[in-house]
Amino acid sequence: MPALEYPSAVAHIFAPAASGRSKCRGCGQPIKRGELRFGECLPNLFGEGEMTLWFHPLCAAYKRPQPLLEGLAETSENVPDRESLERTALTSVAHRRVPRIDGAERSPSGQARCRSCHEPIGRDAWRIRIVFYLEGRFSPGGYIHLTCRKAYFETAEVLDQILRFSPALSDADRQDFIRTAGSEQA
Ligand SMILES: [Zn+2]
Ligand SMILES: [Zn+2]
Repeated sequence: MPALEYPSAVAHIFAPAASGRSKCRGCGQPIKRGELRFGECLPNLFGEGEMTLWFHPLCAAYKRPQPLLEGLAETSENVPDRESLERTALTSVAHRRVPRIDGAERSPSGQARCRSCHEPIGRDAWRIRIVFYLEGRFSPGGYIHLTCRKAYFETAEVLDQILRFSPALSDADRQDFIRTAGSEQA
């Protein structure tokens, strides 16, 4: 029986998407055919061999910064926007809760409590979705008040990331989100 290998023993890859059918694990959107994608390789937890999680490189920089940085260090591919990807990933590595950001939405009820201040999040108020990564999966982890973002994430520079992971929001919603975030800043 082979010994378990440490995750650092597997190589991450950058490769163009062969079809338009793969979906990004970070944002849930399709990865266009021919677009360079990032593959996080990890031991297959459900069987033999390895499994690969595919991401848009920027989505990986936000949500899986450490594997992305390892991949950038190893790859011989010409990765577009390499420096800004590195910067984004280093910011995510430096703030341990930032990779949990999974977008924003209006609270459909007043029942959920904020993970940061533990107060209820009012109906229709903006809330930030949180996910936890564990062994190849992102699991829902609750919500944060938009106003509690700095207290929770320990940086206020999270709006671009929040919007990236909110593909379902309309343009009007995005503008309202940005306006609300700006008016609530101390
Ligand atoms: Zn993505
Ligand atoms: Zn709160």
